[in-house]
Amino acid sequence: MAEALQNYIDGEWVEAADGGRFDITNPATGEVIASAPDSGPRDVERAIEAARRTFDEGRWWPRTSERERGRILLRAAEIVRREHERLARMETMDCGKPLAEARGDIAEVAFMFEYYGGWATKVHGEIPPVGPGALSLVVKEPVGVVAAITPWNYPMMMAIQKLAPALAAGCTVILKPAEQTPFTALEIPRILEEAGLPRGVLHVVTGFGESAGAPLVSSPKVDKVGFTGSREVGRIIMRAGADTLKRVTLELGGKSPNIVFADAEFEAAIEGSCVGIFGNQGEVCSAGSRVFVERAIYDRALEAMAERTRAIRLGDGLDEETTMGPLVSREQQERVERYIEIGGGEARLAVMGARPEDPRLSGGYFVPPVIFADVDNRARIAREEIFGPVMSVIPFSGLDEVLALSNDNDYGLAAAVWTRDITKAITTARALRAGTVWINDSQPAPTEAPWGGFKQSGIGRELGAHGIEDFLETKHIYVNLSR
Ligand code: ADP
Ligand code: MG
Repeated sequence: MAEALQNYIDGEWVEAADGGRFDITNPATGEVIASAPDSGPRDVERAIEAARRTFDEGRWWPRTSERERGRILLRAAEIVRREHERLARMETMDCGKPLAEARGDIAEVAFMFEYYGGWATKVHGEIPPVGPGALSLVVKEPVGVVAAITPWNYPMMMAIQKLAPALAAGCTVILKPAEQTPFTALEIPRILEEAGLPRGVLHVVTGFGESAGAPLVSSPKVDKVGFTGSREVGRIIMRAGADTLKRVTLELGGKSPNIVFADAEFEAAIEGSCVGIFGNQGEVCSAGSRVFVERAIYDRALEAMAERTRAIRLGDGLDEETTMGPLVSREQQERVERYIEIGGGEARLAVMGARPEDPRLSGGYFVPPVIFADVDNRARIAREEIFGPVMSVIPFSGLDEVLALSNDNDYGLAAAVWTRDITKAITTARALRAGTVWINDSQPAPTEAPWGGFKQSGIGRELGAHGIEDFLETKHIYVNLSR
């Protein structure tokens, strides 16, 4: 059926200036299902110009009050709910994840619109005391033109978690989705147009990082870049943004510890540890890829996790029986397979799940779930982000050892702690250098709470009240009352 997608620039659906296109494949089969504009600097410049003009002429969205901005986002939430199933299926076809997981993503997208729709009218300023002869007003203003550069693992969620607060704040936005997954990104303008978003506020440009992403970062007309993706590209963006002293927030990778103490509620810890690394095929920046298990229960826990892992059913994400889908691309499949090979030389392969049997899926990008046991925390598979269904199990003895091991990594995005002992849980949570710590759970990232990394996992926070802060500038207005 190979649908031909188009860019959305200044309220119009357009081709790339030079007419270039690239193919989008269904990761379950490897078949080409669509093509998208292979945009370059000229396309990006058009979008930036329009976003700049819209912002500058109107100061922020032209003549749009906070109430109206909020209402548009609330209407968008309802439209996403109405189209929930269609959007979820689109997400699965694009990135491979099981439909049940895509449905969860889209439900959260609707809530993100609702949550930040509420925030639009609740950004308050301050009045600091400056003596009897003056009045100081501290007001919050939109940061300006925002570029959102997003990854392929949660395509719509990652876009909306930037876009919704940016629009609530009054910014104009250019979205550059990952080249692997532009489907739902291009639904966003349709949804917001129907919700009443004025022309020129949002633009979506598809294409590759160097040709369509880099010009957004280097442009002097873009005020802020919100990026989610790899640490390598995060570094490039920070360097490229330096010339124009751009505001940059980075949500990068992780190598998150998942700590199972011997006194944990056993079944819950086993299930949570498996979900933590095998959910979304392990293509999760916060995946609990290092599973530390206290020696007293090590063998039993390993066996229980192995049993659960063997029961995972790989298949087409659209098949309701599927519990793990394909990886997003051939490139990602090969990358994860390379790590499995490396792991074979570093640790003991405890489990290798089964590939799907259906011959129609023989061209899909499947990697079965894998558990490596007795892993050394300094092994490459324990140090480097794999971004696939590969669990490294590491034994430990006692709190001090596991804290030292957990924190001995360049990343610091998230961590999970499993124990019935509340003092040990809190002590561990406080000592871990991570942006999110789950106690007796793994992976929840509610829209109401901040999300982001310590150390090399990133800069800044998204979601919650913190998620709108980075789209605002602070202005001080000083009034001399003695004249
Ligand atoms: P992955 O390697 O897992 O695909 P990336 O970090 O490369 O993740 O990609 C995340 C996003 O960053 C994508 O939208 C991609 O196109 C974009 N990107 C990649 N390279 C650059 C770059 N040099 N400048 C701006 N954006 C980029
Ligand atoms: Mg890349």
